[in-house]
Amino acid sequence: MKSRWSDKDADDFISHYAPKGVNADLALRTYTTRLLGGDPKLVLHGGGNTSVKTKTKDLLGEDVDVICVKGSGWDMGNIEPQGLPAVKLAPLQKLLALPRLSDEDMVNYQRINLLDSSAPNPSVETLLHAFLPHKFIDHTHSTAVLSLTDQPDGEKVVREVYGDRVAYVPYTIPGFALAKSVAEVFAKHPKVQGLVLLQHGIFTFADDAKTAYERMIEFVSMAEERLHRQGRKSLAQASLPKSLARVADIAPILRGAVALEKNEMAGTVKRQILCFRTSPAILSYVNGKDVARYSQTGVVTPDHTIRTKNWPLLVPAPEQDKLDEWQATVKAAVEKFVAHYHAYFARNNARAEPKKKEFDSLPRVVLVPGVGLFGLGASAKDAAIAADIAENTVEVIADAEAIGEYRCISEADMFDVEYWSLEQAKLGKAVEKVLARQVCAVTGGGSGIGAATARAMAKEGAEVAVLDRDLEAAKAVAKQIGGKALALACDVTKPDDVRAAFDKIAETFGGVDILVSNAGAAWQGNIGSVDDETLRQSFELNFFAHQSVAQNAVRLMKAQGTYGCLLFNTSKQAVNPGKDFGPYGLPKAATLFLVRQYALDHGKDGIRANAVNADRIRSGLLTDDMVAARAKARGVSESQYMGGNLLGREVYADEVAEAFVYLAHAEKTTAGVITVDGGNIEAAMR
Ligand code: ZN
Repeated sequence: MKSRWSDKDADDFISHYAPKGVNADLALRTYTTRLLGGDPKLVLHGGGNTSVKTKTKDLLGEDVDVICVKGSGWDMGNIEPQGLPAVKLAPLQKLLALPRLSDEDMVNYQRINLLDSSAPNPSVETLLHAFLPHKFIDHTHSTAVLSLTDQPDGEKVVREVYGDRVAYVPYTIPGFALAKSVAEVFAKHPKVQGLVLLQHGIFTFADDAKTAYERMIEFVSMAEERLHRQGRKSLAQASLPKSLARVADIAPILRGAVALEKNEMAGTVKRQILCFRTSPAILSYVNGKDVARYSQTGVVTPDHTIRTKNWPLLVPAPEQDKLDEWQATVKAAVEKFVAHYHAYFARNNARAEPKKKEFDSLPRVVLVPGVGLFGLGASAKDAAIAADIAENTVEVIADAEAIGEYRCISEADMFDVEYWSLEQAKLGKAVEKVLARQVCAVTGGGSGIGAATARAMAKEGAEVAVLDRDLEAAKAVAKQIGGKALALACDVTKPDDVRAAFDKIAETFGGVDILVSNAGAAWQGNIGSVDDETLRQSFELNFFAHQSVAQNAVRLMKAQGTYGCLLFNTSKQAVNPGKDFGPYGLPKAATLFLVRQYALDHGKDGIRANAVNADRIRSGLLTDDMVAARAKARGVSESQYMGGNLLGREVYADEVAEAFVYLAHAEKTTAGVITVDGGNIEAAMR
């Protein structure tokens, strides 16, 4: 591992933050914290922490000794000075005299000693930083160091590498107990440049930012050299079926299998979003002969537990053309996983005081031999975090197995971290959005009603795939939505395009729950003389394309077995024909019946089908130029034309989008049509 320190960058940080009242110590602390946080081999997603002891002035202008330490909720990779809140140092150091301290009291005491009452909670490892005398302290969960310490004789292995340059701290749960333990070890070895926390990570320290950071890089490099010293022993591989199933076909099956709370809430859907990963390293790991042993040992460092649980779900390799069989095996594996989790909870909760409330028992990582791994979570973001950690775990364990045998903290220690009181306190407090954990695909999503609907679904918590013939338009909408929104080029009149788009959605999110079949265009012509070609073109887009996307969505929904919702953009033309609009109205009328047919045939699968009837909305179908021309032709103003309905008010795309959102969560409504047109009595339903 190479040092990325640059004198110029360091100076730039100092001069950038100085006008904002940030002193040089904190500017440099921000700089090297980002250097560490930018490397996934050192820290991942909120893991690790850093601190600097410095002076600041209080309101009265008096000097105060403080420690600026990473705040919870901040990521080291993009930290700002306000992510390193200042806490008065002297009161923290006095706590060393206490024999014990509860987590709640510790958090409260740290908060009341903050200089800024609105700052985030200082790290749970704040006291560890405060009890050590050094100015700059850096802490990471280095992949290479973990591979060395996560061994039955891990302490011996790391002692051979670092000798007396560091001190060694046996595993203790983070918080006050660990801080005390570290202080005691350090008191016996006051000359060390760092600490290895067995089965947890590494600390380095110094009086200046550069030395503390470069010691971290040096120690991690020594660990990497030790791992690669002898010829690499790679994992023994198991034999696999000759033809393996595709990711797009197995993802919805997996997503369905991990969505049900089997025991306590039988039948209740709790969906998860999937994030797929594969690479030669992942394949070597999941295809390993001993994968059932090393993958089920436990987490490589305790704070991963919160994101991945202690063990991943391991399923058999999926053979192509035998997916029914595989589905049954996966269901059985999930049931076993859930039963194992309940037993683990009961076993450890028996000794816990006070008693804990059990978390959901579903896996967060799935290993699929022959294919790769999936991260799971309540959102695409959470799923990606679980996948990142799983990839990191693959590396730590493969390297640990290459020099010995992977071993981690005990089940009881893992339980104590997973059911830590500070985590328990968060239980039940987060309220999920109404469409959270659902995947929504919108056709014609690049503009008009489609774009408004894609944005509205995302706002309610859904993961969104924006499909449009115009990829750039789809990308622009996905970018507005932000996060993990997916943009796909798709001509819905081409069955191969549609199939490829739904495969991509399954690979990206694991499946689909809500379809908004919106793409359409208006063709005109007098019905007695219109040419066949025009009518057929309109049927391709305004009827067959709806059928094609709906069939693909139903295929995924049935593989998941967790219900679903089909939504169609029909039109007032489906009910009330417009003069010379036959080529448009006829396929739309067929599509209105298509909605009813899906509701009828797939109600038994829990799949709902509903439609929105919109009329006269400015969009790609009704451009501003068209509005001007039509208003002129009728001798009215544009606003009179657009408000030519019972309410006399223009209707907007965002209002149509709200109707789609409502139907997406109207759990008991199917075969329904909502009219959003300001009132058109000729097109009124029933
Ligand atoms: Zn740590």
